Amino acid sequence: MIDKKPEIFTFEGAGKGPVLTVFGAVHGNEKCGPQAIRRIMKLIESGDIQVTAGKVVFVPVCNPRAYDGDVRFVERNLNRFFYPKPKDEITHYEDNLDLVLCPVVEKTDYLLDLHSYTSPGGAFIFLEDLSQKSVAFAECLGVPRMVYGWAAALSSNDEVIDKKQAMGTTEYAREFGALSLTLECGQHKHPRAADVGFQAILNALAFLKLAKFDDTLNIADLPEERSYKVKMRGSRLKLRDGDFTRDWKNMDPLKKGDVIARYDDGEEITAPEDGIIVLPKRDQQIGHEWFFWGVEEEV
Ligand SMILES: [Zn+2]
Repeated sequence: MIDKKPEIFTFEGAGKGPVLTVFGAVHGNEKCGPQAIRRIMKLIESGDIQVTAGKVVFVPVCNPRAYDGDVRFVERNLNRFFYPKPKDEITHYEDNLDLVLCPVVEKTDYLLDLHSYTSPGGAFIFLEDLSQKSVAFAECLGVPRMVYGWAAALSSNDEVIDKKQAMGTTEYAREFGALSLTLECGQHKHPRAADVGFQAILNALAFLKLAKFDDTLNIADLPEERSYKVKMRGSRLKLRDGDFTRDWKNMDPLKKGDVIARYDDGEEITAPEDGIIVLPKRDQQIGHEWFFWGVEEEV
């Protein structure tokens, strides 16, 4: 039995409109999502934000036990293999969370999943593709840095044996026709990460015409960073002991042949082409994603 279930909060407007779902702490050590969502919910409860149409669903803490322990996950990365399993295949704590969260995702029109990440580097958005409707939803969040092709970059990797690993919350939402985005609000402990998430939720509420609020709620001084659009091209898992050759930051440029990491047995992992490194994780556990790479698009 599951000892701790995620709490789900729903606010409905009188008018017709879509369903927006906002997730926080799918990874338990990423606190900016819960902070941002709770700030928004307080403002809804005080009447400073009025939900006027459609439905807004908040799950501030999707993985409660990982959140309490300040760890990424307890037994399984909740943002991999994210789909409901039959009862006799439930082995991990997180498998129980799928059963609570998947039905929420199945019923939403828009999913905004708030995360943060390990290495330094600013906020950016993972989206499905550069189609007009994907880009329009992403642009509304106020973070002009977009990365797409994550699932293909993972599932095309021969090191990934079970391709269902590449099914995260946003991929699962797309199976049910939703427009879904992951917003990486910045580095885990960045003091402005929760502000980035808060402003993104406000922007989504306005863009989808779900709520009314005073302009003074908007945060005016969020960090400005270079815009980019990046297509992800591939990934490498950390298969045994080894280390990066330097402290890679998210979006550092790569030249073909650059030695990115070295296993303790001497095998080197080099950049297969000119591009950039995405989500490098120096202290990754063995068997998990060490880094991704991609190429910047001229758009
Ligand atoms: Zn995360």
